[in-house]
Amino acid sequence: MVFWEGYVSDEVMGIFAPIVVYWLYGGFYQLLPPLDGYRLHTRKEEEEKNLLSLSKVVKGVLLQQLLQAAVAHALFLLTSTADESGITIQPSIPVQFVQIIIGMLVMDTWQYFMHRYMHQNKFLYRHVHSQHHRLVVPYAIGALYNHPLEGLLLDTIGGAIAFLTSGMTARTSVFFFCFATVKTVDDHCGLWLPGNIFHIFFQNNTAYHDIHHQLPGTKYNYSQPFFSIWDKILGTHMPYTLVKRPEGGFEARLVKEIFNVKFSFESADFEEQFRFGTEELILVVFFVNWIDYGVLGHVSDEVMGIFAPIVIYWLYAGFYQLFLPLENYRLHAKKEEEEKNLVVVKGVLLQQPVQAVVAHVLFVLSY
Ligand SMILES: [Zn+2]
Ligand SMILES: [Zn+2]
Repeated sequence: MVFWEGYVSDEVMGIFAPIVVYWLYGGFYQLLPPLDGYRLHTRKEEEEKNLLSLSKVVKGVLLQQLLQAAVAHALFLLTSTADESGITIQPSIPVQFVQIIIGMLVMDTWQYFMHRYMHQNKFLYRHVHSQHHRLVVPYAIGALYNHPLEGLLLDTIGGAIAFLTSGMTARTSVFFFCFATVKTVDDHCGLWLPGNIFHIFFQNNTAYHDIHHQLPGTKYNYSQPFFSIWDKILGTHMPYTLVKRPEGGFEARLVKEIFNVKFSFESADFEEQFRFGTEELILVVFFVNWIDYGVLGHVSDEVMGIFAPIVIYWLYAGFYQLFLPLENYRLHAKKEEEEKNLVVVKGVLLQQPVQAVVAHVLFVLSY
């Protein structure tokens, strides 16, 4: 049950709700008083650095949304799963939850590589992506101010691919697209307001993206709109510190030295760099759900209880083993590891069958 049922179709909502939500949420930020105590850039800086009038920005966004609506319309026509009476069977809530997380990961992946390529290819940067960077001091309504080609390639096609690969229905996509829209607007709001849930739950947030809009930060923090995973894996992650300005508000500063210093567990920089927080938690919850509902289908809880921890061990450890050389972040040099460690992986392989047998006995006894 959704509140629009019986009034408008899911498809119409999927096309128009993200646009309405954009203007409502962006408009809310626009109408706030100046709030000098919470701005990431002063008002003076905004006037000096941004070279665009608000009406131009609004027109640019409306053009992008027109293209977006046309693509969404075509997409829904092509993928409709309704039966003859026009009813689409909706998956269960946990399945929809997993689909939304898949959509988030796919959208992030698409946008990271397209966005980074737009910076690396000088022609594309000069003629396409630089338009978005004309707002050196971002504000909420400018979140989707892009060259029309970029709006199509990054945001719209990215959304379409996320929709298609996650298998969500039009109804689920209403929530997904609205969430992505609100997150993108918030990342450009330029304010560091206390209690903003996006700032609490996402490492990729207003300050993180503000670094990317600053001139020295354009080669970092490409990840958008949800997580910062790709930046971390591919070495373009630039942590920031928030410094209070004497004239009020905050400044998001690049933590440049972080790529060259050696860490210790006591150092605050280490905390900042390796803050395993909500992002990683979402991924773990997603992963467990995914195994449960997506991959294994109808496996008993007992079998999952025995094997899921073993599978997760190898997947998570394998992720570290394969994808993260990260010489700059190691607590011991690679050479030291080779010299000092005298055992190999086999020990783990012995412990896990024992663990599986005990878990099996435990489940049988407590049944
Ligand atoms: Zn950029
Ligand atoms: Zn931006």
